[in-house]
Amino acid sequence: MRIETCYFCSSRIYPGHGIQFVRNDCKIFKFCRSKCHAAFKKKKNPRKTKWTKAYRKTVGKELAVDPSFEFEKRRNIPVKYNRELWQKTVEAIRKIEAIRQKRCNIHIMQRLRKGRELDEEKDVKEVQKNLCLIRSPASGLKDQKLAEEEADNDDESMQDSDEEMDDEPIAIEA
Ligand SMILES: [Zn+2]
Repeated sequence: MRIETCYFCSSRIYPGHGIQFVRNDCKIFKFCRSKCHAAFKKKKNPRKTKWTKAYRKTVGKELAVDPSFEFEKRRNIPVKYNRELWQKTVEAIRKIEAIRQKRCNIHIMQRLRKGRELDEEKDVKEVQKNLCLIRSPASGLKDQKLAEEEADNDDESMQDSDEEMDDEPIAIEA
């Protein structure tokens, strides 16, 4: 007895479940439920259908490259029953599964962190862009008044200097 994986969504197919389709070139396709079978018959691409494992892996939503996937392989050589080997295998499966789960969680957390950083950047940009909407109009007025006063002072001083400048050449002439 084998636990097969669905051709379309890559979920597990337990014995006695699902549909099997054998193409006329002898390639076997196994489907977990009629939903996957129907999608296959409609010639949908599992890498472009959002609810499949293949899509999630190609888009980077899930851990795709990991040495823990190497353990799961199809072995067609029969192994003679050995109680110890079985016990060890079952224990190993549990340990590997736990490690994989942990790595998947880390992967997801990293992805979320990146999203949060991008959101923050976007917020800062938006605030900088529309700063005039947040700033109260009174503060602008204050600045304007100060600027005007300064400008007036500058004008007066400029006038003063002009007068001085006017005086000097006369003095030289005299
Ligand atoms: Zn499926």
